[in-house]
Amino acid sequence: MDPSPRPTASRPAARGPVRLSALSTLGVRMLLIQTLLVASVLAVVGASMGLSLGEDMFLVWLAVAGLVGAAMLTLGSLAASGTVTRPIDRLNDAVLALQKGEHVEVEVTSDDEIGRLSKGFNAMVSVLRDREDKLTHLALHDHETGLPNRRFLERQCARTPDVRVVVVGLDRHEVVRGAIGHDAMIALLRTLGARLAVLSGGAAIARIGADALGLAMAGKDADAVEDMVARLLQASESPIIVAGAPIDVSLRVGVAGRGGPGAKLDSPIDRAAVAVEQARAAHRPWGRFDEEAYGDPAAALSLISELMSALSHDQVGVAYQPKWDCRARRVTGVEALMRWTHPRRGAVPPDLFIGMAEETGHIRALTEWTVRRAIDDQRRLADAGHQVCMSVNLSGRLLADESFAETLIVAARGAAGRLRVEITETAAMHDPEAALRIIDRLVAGGISVSLDDYGSGLSSLAYLKRIPADELKIDKAFVMGLDQSSRDALLVKSTIDLAHGLGMKVTAEGVETETSLALLSGMGCDMAQGYYVGRPVPLDELIAKLDADADRSGGNATAVA
Ligand code: C2E
Ligand code: CA
Ligand code: CA
Repeated sequence: MDPSPRPTASRPAARGPVRLSALSTLGVRMLLIQTLLVASVLAVVGASMGLSLGEDMFLVWLAVAGLVGAAMLTLGSLAASGTVTRPIDRLNDAVLALQKGEHVEVEVTSDDEIGRLSKGFNAMVSVLRDREDKLTHLALHDHETGLPNRRFLERQCARTPDVRVVVVGLDRHEVVRGAIGHDAMIALLRTLGARLAVLSGGAAIARIGADALGLAMAGKDADAVEDMVARLLQASESPIIVAGAPIDVSLRVGVAGRGGPGAKLDSPIDRAAVAVEQARAAHRPWGRFDEEAYGDPAAALSLISELMSALSHDQVGVAYQPKWDCRARRVTGVEALMRWTHPRRGAVPPDLFIGMAEETGHIRALTEWTVRRAIDDQRRLADAGHQVCMSVNLSGRLLADESFAETLIVAARGAAGRLRVEITETAAMHDPEAALRIIDRLVAGGISVSLDDYGSGLSSLAYLKRIPADELKIDKAFVMGLDQSSRDALLVKSTIDLAHGLGMKVTAEGVETETSLALLSGMGCDMAQGYYVGRPVPLDELIAKLDADADRSGGNATAVA
């Protein structure tokens, strides 16, 4: 009657429940009674045999029978105690197994105390199991949409060695949510999830961000995933119906597998999410994760902290590039260009570290530093007899920062000459209304505005008309080929005429040859800037050059632009 644990099929589980049986105490009682009976019979038989053999032998038999009876009693009690404690031990084992997270269930074979204890134990295990299931569901699902969440997707990815993750992002998520409201947005994500599930052949669709859904595909080749993405993008051309109303959505899709050895980003979910951003930046509907374009953001982050400390350790400086006035035939302005010489990397290109400073929120500190330095140097130039207009580049990010505009206006008041900011058209296009407000404020505060890199973006005439810039800088891409391409010459000439028509002066950038300078002067261009006029140089070199120019032209000091 030894109750051995037996497996059960009562409830499917990751690890099947360990089933333990408890022994009835009835069996224990029967064993005890049997033992006592046998001992008594032995004693009676011994007594009757002893009487027939005489008094001495009677005593001997009596002793032997007594001993045998006592021995059997002892054995009986030992067996009894074993059969009582064994089921309790098994219950104890079940509790320990439960503590380890195993699914346990004890087999109930009686209605007595142990049987009831076992039933109670099983009921408790069932309640615990239900609660655990609920908690697991909560941990792996998004409470707003009810869809699986990122952790769910991570688990799926971890189980799939050749996983490919597809992340679907909603374009202009903030705008859509603002237009339809939070609840409709959630309903939209749910409907989109259902559409995706059908298109992917039943994959679980997880919500992995406010505006992004993701799914994992296993063992599929790249073509199968791309087919699915194409079907999805095609399907997204028809509106999604939310509460009876059609909503047009624009989707952006990123696809990625796990990162290979040495990859900067390993998680396929992160890689696919970055691929969405990369596709968005490239104005493509979808894209695979581009390892090279992603670069090394961790290194970039350490580089930016090095840049901020370099500001106070003289590794950062400003170079000044002269601007030549074609009519006055002398330098009347300079453009301040940042320079950073890293102790190990050498010269770091400004496009690189300025982009990083923009991404990491350090651009304001960097620009304030440059403006302070430029204004100090403008004073030193004035002290040396050279009055120049000082141009500083302004990142588009700062065209949304009203308090920065105020700082700039205050700084300009203390300047020894005119201060000018160069802004690119794309920078101001990001949030045109806010940018125009700030530009108006700068102009009212006495700062001049130049439109930089004109022609490199989507130059719109309406924008040109609205912006209160008084200078247009033609991008060097058109100017550098001026003496070789009649097409470029035509573009430059028509741009000069257009700007003049709008009341703006024109600076041509990238003037590398004497011929270009002569052509530009002939076209009526106001200013020229480029290697032919002068490369960007440190302040001392600039002063020496301006001194030499002034000597050549008979001691005339540099005029104000
Ligand atoms: P940018 O504002 O268009 O500056 C002109 C760039 O053209 C400078 O590059 C200059 O060295 C280069 N350049 C000037 N003349 C010629 C020429 O004849 N031929 C050629 N091929 N190139 C010429 P740099 O110094 O590398 O600066 C690159 C960009 O970095 C600048 O373009 C500007 O957008 C940005 N930048 C530099 N300093 C600052 C700054 O303090 N703040 C901000 N926001 N941006 C800055
Ligand atoms: Ca510039
Ligand atoms: Ca430029």
